[in-house]
Amino acid sequence: MSDKSRLEVAASGGCQCGALRYHVSAVTDTSHICHCRMCQKAVGSFFAALFGVPKDALVWTRGEPARFMSSEHVARGFCAQCGTPLFYEYMPGDDLALTTGSLDDPAQFPPKDQFGLEAVMPWFGGIADVRKAGATEETMAEFVGGIRASNHQHPDHDTDHWPA
Ligand SMILES: [Zn+2]
Ligand SMILES: [Zn+2]
Repeated sequence: MSDKSRLEVAASGGCQCGALRYHVSAVTDTSHICHCRMCQKAVGSFFAALFGVPKDALVWTRGEPARFMSSEHVARGFCAQCGTPLFYEYMPGDDLALTTGSLDDPAQFPPKDQFGLEAVMPWFGGIADVRKAGATEETMAEFVGGIRASNHQHPDHDTDHWPA
């Protein structure tokens, strides 16, 4: 694991409800998606999107994540209050992998590799061509105002107090 290149770069993120927030001061250059069946279950999706972080470069600035041991040496971290999946941690390792979707800017670290191809969805190669219904403002126009007015999701930046 020590051959992974370390990039000194700041990033922040957290869970949907805002009970958990983190800062990183460096990443390992390992942004990836994993199609394996355990990652599918852990994030409730077709694949997990993850990026590596040296453990010494990660600070939980609000809250303490809950953990589920998905196997003897692997912990899956999540928010106990809202359920957002937050990390994959190989316990003996020097780094862990945070979920890319939990970043305040989820486009910050584009994936470079795919793992777990034994469980890849058979139609995954065509996913970009699936029929596109448009932006939320277009497809759910009658609900957008109500969603905004009652939005309980933490914003994509740090907050001094939460809930506001
Ligand atoms: Zn939460
Ligand atoms: Zn996996």
